[in-house]
Amino acid sequence: MKILVTGGAGFIGSHLCKYLISIGNHVTCIDNFYTGSKKNLLAIAKNPNFKFIEADITKKINFKVDQIFNLACPASPVHYQKDPLNTIKTNTLGMINILENAYKNNSTVLQASTSEVYGDPLISPQEESYWGNVNPIGIRSCYDEGKRIAETMCTDFSKQMKINIKIARIFNTYGSNMQKDDGRVISNFFVQAMQNKDLTVYGDGNQTRSFCFIEDMLDGLVRLMNEKEYNINPVNLGNPEEFKVSDVAKIIIRLTKSKSKITYQNLPSDDPKIRKPDISLAKKRLDWYPKIQLLDGLRETESYFRSII
Ligand code: NAD
Ligand code: UDP
Repeated sequence: MKILVTGGAGFIGSHLCKYLISIGNHVTCIDNFYTGSKKNLLAIAKNPNFKFIEADITKKINFKVDQIFNLACPASPVHYQKDPLNTIKTNTLGMINILENAYKNNSTVLQASTSEVYGDPLISPQEESYWGNVNPIGIRSCYDEGKRIAETMCTDFSKQMKINIKIARIFNTYGSNMQKDDGRVISNFFVQAMQNKDLTVYGDGNQTRSFCFIEDMLDGLVRLMNEKEYNINPVNLGNPEEFKVSDVAKIIIRLTKSKSKITYQNLPSDDPKIRKPDISLAKKRLDWYPKIQLLDGLRETESYFRSII
């Protein structure tokens, strides 16, 4: 198939491009390098089935492809909060451009949505039917409200214009190709531990997250994109094993044999206290569940960070 991956120079996108090529597809990647990097694409840059175009999805695009994975959007709070208007434009104007392109060229769109649509959830685990608890005017709103309106646009385009859409609600994912200065918890802790600097736990560290290794996520995304029988939307993709952030810090210090200590800093506002996906739907309809335990995934991620630090 001919596939377009937006945000393909980023963490998940670069792995996805490589994976899609390895299973026989022709992949075009577009990215504006807002948080992505050319280095992430070195392994496939010269592959004849791969093409890279520097482009911004907030501008009109025209690609005749079978499938579009729309991953373009900064995902780390540090980066999406740096220029909130840019984040909002990417999630709104960018989303419309993707959907109009899909309508014109009859492509299926998989939208990379997020567990952030549940905000600071009042129930756990979070299942797809939960509407969430989201602040519309907080520091995370450009991202979480942006992703919510993107889901609305996908749903209404699908109903009104009859295009095929898939909404993946991705939960915290980690692995190689994260930038050193990405700012998310796993990359921060590895970089700090390897430099024997204090690990910065925000708040008391009792907030929880559930971490999915990149390989499992790729499998889930591709299964969802190719699922035709049930036409399910949206679908949670994530690893339901839940960890306190302070425990993740301890695990990474132990794993890297670091001399680092833990330091506690202020918790950013609206930081969700709990997060754990209910993945029954993905299990039932995609026969998907994560196979890689946190410690195994972290070991692989450690070698990547050692290679770049
Ligand atoms: P990332 O920041 O590493 O990658 C995002 C990529 O999109 C970067 O290469 C960036 O340069 C590009 N980009 C940003 N705005 C763009 C624009 N307007 N036009 C073209 N390219 C643009 O993030 P990631 O972790 O790889 O996340 C990929 C997608 O998955 C994002 O949409 C994110 O919201 C979603 N997601 C990720 C996670 C996670 O834990 N990694 C969790 C939930 C959702
Ligand atoms: N966090 C932390 N120290 C860091 C970076 C993040 O304690 O150096 C916390 C953050 O406050 C949040 C959790 O780790 O509670 C996950 O943060 P991340 O930015 O990775 O993702 P998100 O909050 O979007 O889930």
